[in-house]
Amino acid sequence: MSSLGTPFTAGAKRVMLCGSGELGKEVVIELQRYGVEVIACDAYPNAPAMQVADRAHVFSMLDGAELRRVIELEKPHLIVPEVEAIATDVLAAIEEEGLSTVIPTARATQLTMNREGIRRMVAEELGCRTSPYAFAATIEEYRAAVEGIGLPCVVKPIMSSSGKGQSTLRSPADIQPAWEHAQAGGRAGAGKVIVEGFVEFDYEITLLTVRHQGGTSFCDPVGHIQVDGDYRESWQPAPMSEAALLRARQMAGDVTAALGGFGVFGVEMFVKDDEVIFSEVSPRPHDTGMVTMISQDLSQFSLHARAILGLPIPNIRTHGPSASCAVVVEGQSKQVRFGNLAEALAEPDTQLRLFGKPEVAGKRRMAVTLARGKDVDEARAKARAVAERMAIEL
Ligand code: AMP
Repeated sequence: MSSLGTPFTAGAKRVMLCGSGELGKEVVIELQRYGVEVIACDAYPNAPAMQVADRAHVFSMLDGAELRRVIELEKPHLIVPEVEAIATDVLAAIEEEGLSTVIPTARATQLTMNREGIRRMVAEELGCRTSPYAFAATIEEYRAAVEGIGLPCVVKPIMSSSGKGQSTLRSPADIQPAWEHAQAGGRAGAGKVIVEGFVEFDYEITLLTVRHQGGTSFCDPVGHIQVDGDYRESWQPAPMSEAALLRARQMAGDVTAALGGFGVFGVEMFVKDDEVIFSEVSPRPHDTGMVTMISQDLSQFSLHARAILGLPIPNIRTHGPSASCAVVVEGQSKQVRFGNLAEALAEPDTQLRLFGKPEVAGKRRMAVTLARGKDVDEARAKARAVAERMAIEL
């Protein structure tokens, strides 16, 4: 399928995005460069990707009947999930009926929407190293799981991401509050949790891995820092030993091959000495991979577009040490303004992406800054400085 048509004609290639956040916005922009007709979906109007797509539909993607109705209306050639919270059983049925291709595969979206599915596949079927873990659906099972794993440990709802409902338990006093936090923070309301042994890692990375028509390619490893389970800074290349890098590539190759299909995957791993421990995987571009908008000739978004369109990826050219810094805004506003930009962007080799999110209520990632430097430390300092100089007005 290496030909593409004209949008709004019978020969158009149509792609439907499920989830319209900042990552989806960049995917849409990359698809638009190929004249793809893009339909963006999310639960609220004016979501970032909707602002650059050809059409938008506003509905809960967990509503299977509505999801099917929109797919049957739009008849997309490809369905590109951007979030986990989707009625993935409908995607599986759509794929089965041959109505559309789900990226990377419907099965991958089903396995990764739930921490239990992906953890069991990676640890129990592929035999990859992970933290020790146990699942619990009731408070009694949870107490037994914490007892079995031991302290310190990390508790997460199995249906959650970006640190929602996640706690680190260091003393017995943390056990009860962590359960309550997990029950309140899960995507689909109260439910099962995973209890993971705390990994005393030296550093963590995301290995962006692309499956495309010519095979599997790896980006340079991305290092990152998380606060409350949410990404704040990332940089590339993450310095690591040759032995650890080889292991990381092996693991990412195995995990993405088991998930199958075409596209970018963000494989998150912990590294301790030369040991690599699997953490989780997104079957789509990853938030920490936003650094590739400045570090690579083809960013993770452009790689995703090429891979899913069946186009070749002969090489991934890099521009040297780079970093990204998330701009997390706290407060209440429907008209956030970003000021002092002339000063913030005065340094050479710095960039800014404003996502255009229509509202902040609480804490929300609203923008990202990007920078290149002579080494990753300088790139990080520059990206942070851009973010710090911005004047946020609520
Ligand atoms: P996750 O939502 O699973 O990606 O977790 C978010 C972040 O929490 C990770 O990137 C780590 O920084 C931290 N984290 C999660 N699980 C563990 C663990 N078992 N041990 C240590 N840190 C963890």
